[in-house]
Amino acid sequence: MLQLERVTVAFGHHVAVAGVDLRVDDGHVLAVLGPSGSGKSSLLRAVAGLEPLRAGVVRWDGTDLAGVPTHKRGFALMFQDGQLFDHLTVARNVGYALRLRGVTGAAARSRVDDLLELVGLGGWGPRMPRTLSGGERQRVALARSLAAEPRLMLLDEPLSALDAELRVRLAADLRRILREAGTTALLVTHDQEEAFAVADRLAVMRAGAVVQEGTTEDVWARPADAATALFLGYAR
Ligand code: ATP
Ligand code: MG
Repeated sequence: MLQLERVTVAFGHHVAVAGVDLRVDDGHVLAVLGPSGSGKSSLLRAVAGLEPLRAGVVRWDGTDLAGVPTHKRGFALMFQDGQLFDHLTVARNVGYALRLRGVTGAAARSRVDDLLELVGLGGWGPRMPRTLSGGERQRVALARSLAAEPRLMLLDEPLSALDAELRVRLAADLRRILREAGTTALLVTHDQEEAFAVADRLAVMRAGAVVQEGTTEDVWARPADAATALFLGYAR
């Protein structure tokens, strides 16, 4: 279980994240939804240990992660442009994290096949990243993150580089994939549809603060204020 208590991130005098309390239970997917500049990426980077906390605590299963470096937190990070190793095949990209964990040979090959199957790219192992579309690259990046068997997936606008139609389709796939893998995930996005399609719970962020948190149904049915209602698309 991930727990954030009064997490604050500041750049000089600018407070990007202002005392955020959040919690993600095991196996759940929480989306943080907010407009550009509201502090979403800063929050995610703080959880990953890539940004120092000005105040507050990030805990995993009760343990304070202060002083635990990024690579020892057991979290996987995935960004908008799902960086792949361009000189390695799709299979070797996905197998990378397995090798780091000491899984090799036939066991590794069969796990890579399973992961590619899971993201809808069964048999695509020999392809090179430069021959893939943006959506296909994101699927490979997702398979590679899952190969690490992270205890938490951190996703920063993982689908926003894609066109609207593909985004909706991949969002549904992402939800299924995270559930099938039983992965705990924290996703940040400015895209309402993406947030509702992928997550169980939603936190609405504005100007560094979480203004509302609840199940996706609750937030949709009872937005906390007029600005949140507008942002959710009520004016349409
Ligand atoms: P977007 O949806 O555009 O990605 P965001 O919600 O992820 O936005 P952040 O990237 O967290 O927003 O930025 C929050 C605020 O902090 C912004 O005003 C931004 O300019 C500022 N900020 C972020 N990183 C830095 C930095 N390294 N130095 C100075 N200011 C920063
Ligand atoms: Mg961002």
